[in-house]
Amino acid sequence: MIEMKNVTKSYGSLQVLKGITGAVRKGEVVCLIGPSGSGKSTILRCLNGLETYQGGEITIDGVRVDARHAAIRDIRTQMAMVFQRFNLFPHRTALENVTEGPIHVKGEPAHEARERGADLLARVGLGDKIHHYPGQLSGGQMQRVAIARALAMRPKAILFDEPTSALDPELVGDVLDVMRALADEGMTMLVVTHEMRFAREVSDRVLFLDGGVIVEEGTAEVVLGTPQHPRTQDFLRRVLNH
Ligand code: ADP
Ligand code: MG
Repeated sequence: MIEMKNVTKSYGSLQVLKGITGAVRKGEVVCLIGPSGSGKSTILRCLNGLETYQGGEITIDGVRVDARHAAIRDIRTQMAMVFQRFNLFPHRTALENVTEGPIHVKGEPAHEARERGADLLARVGLGDKIHHYPGQLSGGQMQRVAIARALAMRPKAILFDEPTSALDPELVGDVLDVMRALADEGMTMLVVTHEMRFAREVSDRVLFLDGGVIVEEGTAEVVLGTPQHPRTQDFLRRVLNH
């Protein structure tokens, strides 16, 4: 579904992606791991057209992703994104945050969007909080609103950028449980994460990125269990001892 072929991207003279090749098949959960600054967020932003890239090609279901192309608006609705810092509208309730896109971007009738939004919020365990404002919710609850908001767009895939990194440790589990349930339901997911247990238990494959290059790729068992490359070994040692 998502395909990257030799993708390169620079900011000025700094080359951030140095020829990324990889794919996410329909229904697959792929975890993208790697040190800070290795280009993980940049990959996600290129995939949904928030950033342009200079070389190579990205396609979603065979359609080329090009930030300058008219089709990019469709692609952005198809590739939902969940951010580390939630990015909710502070002056809108949980339900209003979830229905904003369906009503204003996709033109769905408001009553239908609200009904479905309430269902989605119930599904992420927030059925009793639909009229709460973000300021009245914990970080874990805000992130679950953000996931419901992503689902409301009926995306082909969801891109997660360190969804649990900003959360207090005791709130991480609820968010990972929601992501695990989505994976079980067959949602296609590309997840940037430092949660190695989640990667090991949920992902079909793991990509290890370092310095704008995919250094190692394989099943979680192999990449996390018996990494071959010294850079992967070094990274895992640091993350797991943390
Ligand atoms: P990661 O998500 O793996 O921490 P990023 O994709 O955010 O890494 O960043 C990769 C590199 O690109 C870093 O060196 C970062 O400083 C640089 N970078 C990211 N965004 C920009 C930008 N808008 N302008 C200039 N440099 C950027
Ligand atoms: Mg990042």
